[in-house]
Amino acid sequence: MIPQVVIDKFNSLPKKGKPLVRTNNVPEWTTLAGLVLTSTMDDSSTCVCLCTGVKATPDEKLSCSNGFLLHDMHAEILVLRAFNVFLIEEGKKAESEYVETLESGKRRLKPHFKVSLWISELPCGDSSMECIQDNADDDWGAAPQDCVLRGREYYTTTGRVRTKPGRRDSPMTLSKSCSDKLAMKQYTGVVMGVVERVFEQVYLDELVVPAGNDIGIKRAFRDRLEQGIKRTLDGEEVESTAPKPRYFDTITTDTTFAYSQEPGRKPSASSIIWTINTGNEVVLNGVKMGHKPTNMNPQSASKVSRQAIWMATKPLLKDSQFDDYYSAKCCVGRTEKIQMGHTALHAWHCTCKDNFRLSGDNEKETGDIQPGILN
Ligand SMILES: [Zn+2]
Repeated sequence: MIPQVVIDKFNSLPKKGKPLVRTNNVPEWTTLAGLVLTSTMDDSSTCVCLCTGVKATPDEKLSCSNGFLLHDMHAEILVLRAFNVFLIEEGKKAESEYVETLESGKRRLKPHFKVSLWISELPCGDSSMECIQDNADDDWGAAPQDCVLRGREYYTTTGRVRTKPGRRDSPMTLSKSCSDKLAMKQYTGVVMGVVERVFEQVYLDELVVPAGNDIGIKRAFRDRLEQGIKRTLDGEEVESTAPKPRYFDTITTDTTFAYSQEPGRKPSASSIIWTINTGNEVVLNGVKMGHKPTNMNPQSASKVSRQAIWMATKPLLKDSQFDDYYSAKCCVGRTEKIQMGHTALHAWHCTCKDNFRLSGDNEKETGDIQPGILN
């Protein structure tokens, strides 16, 4: 049901940005992720945003992107950003089917909607490690403790925070795997820090993923968080005021996507970013297709880039006097949730940052102002 709603929407979109057959006859694959709202009043389900994509940009590019460049273009991460764009645009309407304004002036997703995320492939990182084990034969030995593992290294070691996978000779990305980022959303919710200033937080009710690795899924999104907290506290009780995760249900499905990963297919370089209220956008190398990633500006930036989301949120803010993106996103209580999530997951180093002056102020690169808590 949920996957089909997303697939039907994907099929109705134009060809641009979809996987194609290359001139050498090699077909491409991609991941499709869609967010579906189901009304508990009439049981109707609507796909409000969907994205495709399997690429990530190396950190060396991110450090000078000023918030214009997308660095993580894995579909499930893009679609959560797209959901923020969806909310912001609904929040600007006088009357919205999906969003309402509270007396406090904050907006919220109407509470009768159930929020489901479907991903056509198992998320990279911990939830899919068993699938790699089936295909690999290198012997890595014992993995080092207390550090983030890179991509698929030490693939027999499970329950660990990992960076996004990439070829071993490819430039380093410090972006965390989708399993780790999605696990964190159970602490933080899916509304981004900047947007949380004007929106009540939203938590996923269910994550729908392909069947086949139930152990890995349960471990990545539930078991390792519970065990991580226990291990860190060494038997002590968690303080009752400490942020707690809101676990989503994990549901597996046999529904498959026509462009899924198969032997002989190559990963598609482009991403589709669609929301029900902003339409379709195609992204390549972190910027809108047709623009160069070296020439970053508001015209080349995707609608889900940090700069664009800030600019879209700004009209809804009563007070927008922030020095930079980092201070705008650190709203009350959020940092605590992030720290608690990091504690639960163990070994989460925040080395990657893309802080910048906010548009409308001086758009100069601010460099390393604050330690980043971006991922
Ligand atoms: Zn991923």
